[in-house]
Amino acid sequence: MMAQRILSIDYKSFRFQIFMCFSILFFLTSCGKEDIVQDQDPNDDLYRIPVVVHVIHKGEVIGEGYNLSEERILGQIETLNEDYRRKEGTRGFNDHPDGADTKIEFVLAKSTPDGQPTNGIVRINSTLVDNPIPPNHRFDYLAFYSYWDYEHYLNIWVDPLQPLAIDIVLGFGTGPNTDLPGNDLFSPGEPTQAEGVIINSFHFGESGIQSDYNLGRTLTHEVGHYLGLLHLWGNGDCATNDYCEDTPPVTSHNTGCPSNPPLACNGEPALVENYMDYNADNCMNMFTNDQVARMHYVLKNSVARKSLLDSPGLNKP
Ligand SMILES: [Zn+2]
Repeated sequence: MMAQRILSIDYKSFRFQIFMCFSILFFLTSCGKEDIVQDQDPNDDLYRIPVVVHVIHKGEVIGEGYNLSEERILGQIETLNEDYRRKEGTRGFNDHPDGADTKIEFVLAKSTPDGQPTNGIVRINSTLVDNPIPPNHRFDYLAFYSYWDYEHYLNIWVDPLQPLAIDIVLGFGTGPNTDLPGNDLFSPGEPTQAEGVIINSFHFGESGIQSDYNLGRTLTHEVGHYLGLLHLWGNGDCATNDYCEDTPPVTSHNTGCPSNPPLACNGEPALVENYMDYNADNCMNMFTNDQVARMHYVLKNSVARKSLLDSPGLNKP
């Protein structure tokens, strides 16, 4: 089972009520500056982030079991880009007045840290590796199998969890280190632990599993954390939430696909279609302008994020 310190920061399942309580206690100890970050980007240039997908499997041939097919991996990255670019004609599109194109794109790495050509996918047969890291230290445990320079790649681990973990453990993301309010609510990355995003293999990309989370939106959510977004409910208090003024303040998450959204603290409908809630994959389609401003601030000010933008991994060797 997963480490409490990880679960306390980011999971999408309502089933871990006890961990939720822990999270709220943890969050209540935090304090932050006032809203909000203004995006001062003078141009519309795209932010391009190189990605490496580490498929940790159990010895299956490619395309079977935990050794996911290349098609599924490519489809997942495509979904990620559709969501971040609010692409018309896809599930990631919305016409909400507060909805925004993040101008962030994700590119499977074209060169390795050693300057070799790559397709951005690493496959590790975990049954052949004696891993000394305790499995509940999940980021470090998976990083022992495979981990690329975190300052130049977004590391995504596809975690071969048991079927029992479906809908219970979806994914985790480490947060960036900045002076943004709410910085202390994130699961830390380096040097505390390996930095990146973990996705339960069953929830990675589109799959046939019986689940509200079978369309690959878990990665959209976790990368949101990686780029500096908090859950819409922040620390669970109406007054201090996610530090985005265009997401109505709420005290808790939603699940499923509510046709009549519950009301937020200010009487507006809760933004249940936002990626930083826990709703079903087929109900999500939105980042807001203020969320985008936070992500852009992170990409300009976090040491381990801005270095991604001129990574050699973006180019062929
Ligand atoms: Zn989350």
